[in-house]
Amino acid sequence: MSDESRRDDNASGERRRRAGGSTRAVHSGERDHQSTNAVTTPIYQTSTFWFENSAELRALQEGRGNRDEYGRYSNPTWRAVERKLCELEGAEEAVLFASGMCAATTLFFALLPKGSHLVITSDCYRRTRQFIDQYLVKLDVETTEIEPAENNQLENALRDNTSLFFTESPTNPFLRVTDVEEATKIAHARGVKVVIDSTFSTPLCHRPLERGADYVIHSATKYLGGHNDLLAGVVLGSADAIKPIREAVGMLGGIIDPHSAYLLLRGLKTLALRMEKHNQNGLQVARWLENHAAVKSVCYPGLESHPDFAIASRVMQGCGGVVTFDVEADFDGTCRFVDACRIPYIAASLGGVESLIEMPALISYWDLKPEQRAELGIPDSLVRLSCGIEDADDLIADLEQALESI
Ligand SMILES: *Cc1c(COP(=O)(O)O)cnc(C)c1O
Repeated sequence: MSDESRRDDNASGERRRRAGGSTRAVHSGERDHQSTNAVTTPIYQTSTFWFENSAELRALQEGRGNRDEYGRYSNPTWRAVERKLCELEGAEEAVLFASGMCAATTLFFALLPKGSHLVITSDCYRRTRQFIDQYLVKLDVETTEIEPAENNQLENALRDNTSLFFTESPTNPFLRVTDVEEATKIAHARGVKVVIDSTFSTPLCHRPLERGADYVIHSATKYLGGHNDLLAGVVLGSADAIKPIREAVGMLGGIIDPHSAYLLLRGLKTLALRMEKHNQNGLQVARWLENHAAVKSVCYPGLESHPDFAIASRVMQGCGGVVTFDVEADFDGTCRFVDACRIPYIAASLGGVESLIEMPALISYWDLKPEQRAELGIPDSLVRLSCGIEDADDLIADLEQALESI
């Protein structure tokens, strides 16, 4: 709409009335939606989408026409991100969320009938397990925990009312890698759907949908965004599989905002370059740590010492930047080591260009008693390092000087 109000535009013959300052402030320049040939996708910072006339709205209600209606259902900026993620992951459809947790919880709400059964792994993002214990019980959903990457345990855990098998691959923090093809065969034989949280690998290192999984989810906060500057999540799968997820997010409302969607779109353009560096840095740092006297053990699927080295070598193209290791120290000694690191920030999260370091006992598992942590296999001396895209030599030199502080 230009400077005149629309009604006056249509008034024939009469001298056009000039709209007031308030009307002009709201409407001027806004309805010119011509294509601009901008190289980057605009941030459609809008909560709703207008209709030319009632017939256009009616057409949408009758299932004719394919356009945006309201900001909780779709947005063109999200759509660009969803298409890009589909192409990367080999999926037909994708749904974006406000966070990785929102992607997981919405998926559970959408797919688990009351009184159904869920199989998850013991090594698993802490909040996912808490959601299961605190909220899914209200739907009388029962859960069986199995060891990660142990498909024989999966077979035994399945029941007649099992709906889903949910696992990270690689898992957090021990980086266990599931043989998705085998797990899917076992699950599908019993009519059970398979969901892989692929946050730690990204579609450039592992594509579970191509190996038969029904759903892939990511915390896009991590590698996909890649710059430690946004929170987002995504669920991907076939068009049929995604339909109930899209309906659920429209109701539960955990959508990504257009600005974060734009940041994610921008971050994704350099995913391949970043992953190459994360993969190299992760492997180099893991190999170096493994030979250091002050390091008890190192978990990295690209090391021959890792229990899933064989499957990781077969199905993954690079194992990412996260290295989990156990140092020869008590709690305080481990803190001294972490504090002495100069390059990585002490922070939760992973997958960004900046290296981050954390002690699981001090971050995700702090509320547990030491005995409970021990039961979960989380020693006080465990450290999780997310290698960023700095120079590997600098990271190694930094770790070397910091390990002297133990
Ligand atoms: C971070 C993370 C989540 C949660 O994602 P948010 O974006 O922080 O909500 C879920 N699963 C894994 C494996 C994660 O690393």
